[in-house]
Amino acid sequence: MELQRRLGKDRVLLGLAERRNYAYDGIVVGAIPALVVLPRSTAEVVEVVRFARQVGLPLVARGAASGLSGGAVPLGASIVVAFTRMTGFRIDPQARRAVVQPGVVTARLAEAARPYGLTYPPDPASFRTSTLGGNLAENAGGPMCFKWGVTGDYVEGLEFVDFEGRVHRVERKAYDLVGLLVGSEGTLGLITEAQLRLVPAPRYARALMAAFDEVGRAAEAVSAAIAAGAVPAKLEFMDQGCIQAVEDYLGLGLPREAAAILLVETDGDDPLVVEEELEWVAEACRQHGGRVRVARDEAEREALWRARRAISPAIGAIKPKRLNEDIAVPRSSLPAVVRAIEALAREYGLRVVQFGHIGDGNLHPNVLFDPRVDSEERVWSLLHEIARVALRHGGVLSGEHGIGLLKRDFMLEALDAETLAAFWQVKRAFDPEGLFNPGKVLPEPHSRPG
Ligand SMILES: Cc1cc2nc3c(=O)[nH]c(=O)nc-3n(C[C@H](O)[C@H](O)[C@H](O)COP(=O)(O)OP(=O)(O)OC[C@H]3O[C@@H](n4cnc5c(N)ncnc54)[C@H](O)[C@@H]3O)c2cc1C
Repeated sequence: MELQRRLGKDRVLLGLAERRNYAYDGIVVGAIPALVVLPRSTAEVVEVVRFARQVGLPLVARGAASGLSGGAVPLGASIVVAFTRMTGFRIDPQARRAVVQPGVVTARLAEAARPYGLTYPPDPASFRTSTLGGNLAENAGGPMCFKWGVTGDYVEGLEFVDFEGRVHRVERKAYDLVGLLVGSEGTLGLITEAQLRLVPAPRYARALMAAFDEVGRAAEAVSAAIAAGAVPAKLEFMDQGCIQAVEDYLGLGLPREAAAILLVETDGDDPLVVEEELEWVAEACRQHGGRVRVARDEAEREALWRARRAISPAIGAIKPKRLNEDIAVPRSSLPAVVRAIEALAREYGLRVVQFGHIGDGNLHPNVLFDPRVDSEERVWSLLHEIARVALRHGGVLSGEHGIGLLKRDFMLEALDAETLAAFWQVKRAFDPEGLFNPGKVLPEPHSRPG
């Protein structure tokens, strides 16, 4: 086969058993791709784009496939470009910058920066598997996002390959193409390199857990702590279903009876300031009826974050399948939104657990179900209703997981016709032939009901 001849046999997977492994992401199973290419360099990505145009097959970029919106999933005959072999990076400690290929696993960058006293803060809970390319394409966030920001806040420049196989290097100047590419979910071009900003790693961190009898009180405590001037590094929320799932899974001693818990961490270079900031948060929690437990040492602090990281496997163990929502709403609306979602779960007779980065109002209601018993149509209908709750409360469809396939059709309700048309103009300007990740993010304008 021509592409195998050009790139080498091990770089192009043709066997059905191999290709089958590239049909899914963290949540959606799609079509088996016609072929899978594993480039090692930008030049090889250029070859793949040219080949795809020649044979008339679309391209689906793929990092670690930990995505939760179906972004990396092929929809029909397509070529998957898996970036997992583009794992090179170099760190310039003086410039506090890293130049990375897209296949670098997220956690690897922070680890490599540590000996220089530097860090790379964006920390999706999947950071031990996700790739920087996937993070860039989704503009991934994580527990650290309240204080430290999301992936896009760390991008100084990008290299990408366009639909004709041309390589572009763009910076954050006028017509900020970096801003357009970040969060574009593989629909505008293929990111082949990024210049990422590193920051001095904070030297101290303290953490606490606060348990509440009412979800609303937890949200109020967060607002009160922020109003008092606290800027915690991490501000996480778990509802009762989530607490119980993690407790069943790990048995860490979380308060099963609580309606909600907050996990909070402050960080910085001055231990007294870090301590004082944690105390502001603790005081705000107590004033709102929270029972506060401060982690006394590193082991206790680590146990709190182990609980947070265990949410996904813990809830995954409850039912055979789950679909993950990713709404973001103004923080003041959180109590009403959480309650509305609880009411919907009761109405639909489906189990929903909720957690999220509460500082940013980012909530992940997960619908847990058994496809042998529960109708998937009903699950989808519930997801749609949850999205509507977010929109009604002035929120958005996606906080960090992207629109992908899962929420593409909800965009018809989130965007007016003019905005959707503008999005299509951008898409066509970058990708006039529909080569990149077709069927994702943007619904067809004519599919709008009525
Ligand atoms: C347990 C768990 C916890 C998670 N926690 C978080 C969290 O806290 N925060 C968060 O934001 N997300 C989270 N996620 C979701 C997911 O990990 C992120 O969306 C992540 O950024 C995806 O990275 P990936 O390498 O797996 O990308 P993939 O899933 O492979 O791809 C994601 C998208 O990026 C595109 N893409 C990939 N590489 C490129 C490239 N080089 N050029 C152009 N487009 C590309 C793909 O086409 C696709 O649209 C979580 C997922 C899991 C399973």
